[in-house]
Amino acid sequence: MNHTLQTLEAQLSQPQPPSEKLHLLDELYQFLRYNDLRRAGQLVEEMLVLSEDQTSPAGRGLALKNLGDFHFRQGNLPAAQGCLEEALAVLRRAGQLKGEIDTLNALGNLHYFQGSFPRALEYYLEALEQSRKHQQKALEANALNGVGIVQYTLGNHQEATKYFLRSLALKRELDDRLSEAGTLNNLGLVYLEVGDLSGAVQLYRESLAIKKMLGDRQGQANVLSNLGVVFQRLGRIQEALDYHQQALEIAEQLGSPQVRATCLENLGLSHTALGNLDRALELFQVCKALYQELGNRLGELSALLQVGSLLGRMGQTDSAIQTLQQGLRLAEELGPQKPLLEFHQALAAVFEAEQKPALALYHLRQVLEIERKLYKEQQAQKTAALLAGFQVEKARQEAEIERLRNTELARANRELARAIENLKEANAEKSRLLDKLRQQSAELERLARQDPLTRLHNRRYLEENLEREFAASRRYNFPLSVALVDIDNFKQINDTFSHQVGDDVLRIVAQILESGCRGVDFAARYGGEEFALVFSQTDLAGALIACERVRQRVENHNWSDLHPSLKVTVSIGVSSDPTLPNHEKLLAAADEQLYAAKRAGRNRVCPQS
Ligand code: GH3
Ligand code: MG
Ligand code: MG
Repeated sequence: MNHTLQTLEAQLSQPQPPSEKLHLLDELYQFLRYNDLRRAGQLVEEMLVLSEDQTSPAGRGLALKNLGDFHFRQGNLPAAQGCLEEALAVLRRAGQLKGEIDTLNALGNLHYFQGSFPRALEYYLEALEQSRKHQQKALEANALNGVGIVQYTLGNHQEATKYFLRSLALKRELDDRLSEAGTLNNLGLVYLEVGDLSGAVQLYRESLAIKKMLGDRQGQANVLSNLGVVFQRLGRIQEALDYHQQALEIAEQLGSPQVRATCLENLGLSHTALGNLDRALELFQVCKALYQELGNRLGELSALLQVGSLLGRMGQTDSAIQTLQQGLRLAEELGPQKPLLEFHQALAAVFEAEQKPALALYHLRQVLEIERKLYKEQQAQKTAALLAGFQVEKARQEAEIERLRNTELARANRELARAIENLKEANAEKSRLLDKLRQQSAELERLARQDPLTRLHNRRYLEENLEREFAASRRYNFPLSVALVDIDNFKQINDTFSHQVGDDVLRIVAQILESGCRGVDFAARYGGEEFALVFSQTDLAGALIACERVRQRVENHNWSDLHPSLKVTVSIGVSSDPTLPNHEKLLAAADEQLYAAKRAGRNRVCPQS
């Protein structure tokens, strides 16, 4: 905390553009308003001067907000209200969202302080709505705290606890330990109210530990003072006195007149309870002077009541009446009903002790009247608060529904994404399978047209492709030649050297045929030891050359690898008659020439004459 303070002061001592400087001054004000009201007042002055030229409406709004806060701290409530309302309008126009919500909360505090609880609630609720809408969690926690305080004051302790706990949860989520400690203090108030004093002590101690850890001295003074109040309630006056003393010491070190005055007042109450009336009176007098100096008129009011009542108890009737009447006038001027009632009550008691029944009766009548009025007001305010609480609950439920809807939407989106992912995977799997199927059927297709032994095309392939080649050659007037190749005396090879060797011969002849073809030509196994060669765009002369090359290669192949005495030759019949009507006739013509080659003695090529 001090570190931040030093950092801010250091930054401020550097030259800064006005808008930047305004923000720094604003931050510094937030720290100093608790510890050094005089310096805080100077900061506000500086901010007002800087933002005078209207070049930064947001800065102007912040300056006005702080001026309002400053008046509030001094007890000048009408001035505070005027400034805060103007600040709200300016910040709204400037779109300074955080400043706007902060001001709403401040207006809530102000109206709460004035005792106009429905107005206070209105402001807190608007702050709550805005902070939720714009996800300003710290400001939301403050607004929740505000609603809780109003509910607490109206006696709706359960409701109050609910809001304090929600605020606490948010502050813990934000890890804002300092405001967390503040809310613990408020929860302590509820515990105190419902009579769970040990619960209150526990909360205050927890809050105290946090404030000690974070070095928030002012906060420590406040909590110590609250602890004193609880021990006073517990009848453990000596301990109460100790706490108040500790709080006062810190307040004096801090030089914070506001905190010092509160501590003095509480300390005075403890001394009153112990019967140290002179000491108490002395403390209340100092306290009164401090409040007057600070311009905190509500504080002054409270001090006047303490001084007047105590004087009455001490038998200093004239001074008592004088003081109480002074307080009464101030209370009438300021407006809040509760202090007014307390002054009338105190005056009635003094006049009663003085044996002045008429005057005592007059003040008691006033008490009765105010009580009636307060009761009515309180009923009205309770109803208003309950209604407002209902509104908050509704808003909270709507927010929850919205949140659920968003979660539901997010879940649906996630599922959709997952489904799409699954679908993609399924599709990928499907296309993998389809590919495989395609490959397999292509393989089957290929196998259906391939001879397994020689791996040459089979007769089916030959028929299909020859038919196509034949049609193309007719259409484009290309020459087309076909040869049928038959291994000579193959039966004998099988018989002499084994069927195994026969198969090997078939494979080797197939290889020779294949390598003897050009790219567009193809070889096929026609059946048994017979093969076909198709020569596209090749006339008879060309086909003859190729066939003769094939015949020679077969004859000259090194067959002794298979068996030392093995010799293999082929006979070939070639046809290229362009006048033939179809491919079957072409094949038949080639077959005829093959037969001629056999008859002519084998190992030869016989062209169509
Ligand atoms: P030619 O010179 O007149 O053609 O006499 P050839 O013995 O070659 O003719 P033939 O038609 O009498 O005999 C063909 C033989 O081819 C008969 C058959 O057993 C054999 N053969 C047919 N297919 C296969 C095969 O796939 N493997 C083996 N090893 N022999 C086969
Ligand atoms: Mg044959
Ligand atoms: Mg043969």
